[in-house]
Amino acid sequence: MEGTVTRIRSVLCEVDAGGQAYVCKARRRLVASETGESKPVAVGDRVVLTPTGPGEAVIEEVLPRRTKLSRRSPGDVRTEHVIVTNVDQLLVVCSVRRPPLTLGIIDRYIIAGHSGGLDPIVCINKMDLAKDRAEYLDPARTYEEMGYSVLLTSARAGTGLESFKSALRGKSTVLAGHSGVGKSSLINAIQPGLKLKTGPVNAKGRHITAGVSLLRLDFGGYVVDTPGIREFTLWDMKKSEVAQFFPQIWELAPRCRLPACLHLEEPDCAVKRGVESRELPASQYERYVRIAETLVENPRVPRATDVEVPAEQIGRKKRALSRRKMKQVLRETGLEEVAEEAEEEPEPGPA
Ligand code: GDP
Ligand code: ZN
Repeated sequence: MEGTVTRIRSVLCEVDAGGQAYVCKARRRLVASETGESKPVAVGDRVVLTPTGPGEAVIEEVLPRRTKLSRRSPGDVRTEHVIVTNVDQLLVVCSVRRPPLTLGIIDRYIIAGHSGGLDPIVCINKMDLAKDRAEYLDPARTYEEMGYSVLLTSARAGTGLESFKSALRGKSTVLAGHSGVGKSSLINAIQPGLKLKTGPVNAKGRHITAGVSLLRLDFGGYVVDTPGIREFTLWDMKKSEVAQFFPQIWELAPRCRLPACLHLEEPDCAVKRGVESRELPASQYERYVRIAETLVENPRVPRATDVEVPAEQIGRKKRALSRRKMKQVLRETGLEEVAEEAEEEPEPGPA
């Protein structure tokens, strides 16, 4: 039997299979140490399950993922935390004030979304708190210029909710962003009571309600809220891959002297020249540098559930590195051997 994981709470999860909800545990061989992930399954996963009793089942297998949103596990640089899988789009929510708007976290979410095959959208909430229109229009322009749709909302004043609803209609969407920006309020504003619905109880009579959950929208589509994600660090990203997410940097890069130029300390860098000549906004370059410098590269072994994102899907205006350029970068960074080993290593698959 196949189903979709709709909620997770500690070792238990809820799976919807043909309209019937099951409280499940995952088979021991799917535990974290085998998959390299912090949890054996994620919300959104398509799974194969075997019923073990009324409303109870065990997860035998996780099917390959179409998309995913991952972060580095807090506290363990070698572990991936898959937040949600198989949804269509990522709505990055931020607020004008309380908490203040910071571009860095929006950038990181957008990059993670793209690399997991999701279409990012930016939502600037709490418009009602702005003292000046520029407080939301400036960041909106920043992301529109990069080719993203931007929604301006106020869950409190009820502004922009029709556009917000249209963006979600008929799609599956994960809402991400700092805690307190208004993700829950936005969801409740478009469908009151949605977040209050509880799942079935497990054998001990406990409800499975908290945490990341997949919610069905009455007007069509699904939404996933991500409460409790306090930090968001990129996972499985190389420094050489970051530039492709900043269209103006990516355009200048072929003119750098070194083919593997990271536009940081390298000599004769067209990107740095672009900043000096004001062809490239200094703010975009600073955002790039912040991400490239803080990135921890984690060479890893491919898995059966891995998402394959075709290069042309990475941004409307962006192109992925060509295979040749990628090989060259790998050679220069000394990561090539790791990559080849990884390709050969068989998946530690189900017995
Ligand atoms: P979440 O952590 O992202 O889910 O944020 P919540 O939805 O829990 O909202 C955090 C706080 O911000 C709550 O006190 C909300 O009432 C408030 N809030 C949410 N949206 C708005 C808004 O548009 N304007 C204002 N002024 N406050 C809001
Ligand atoms: Zn350069």
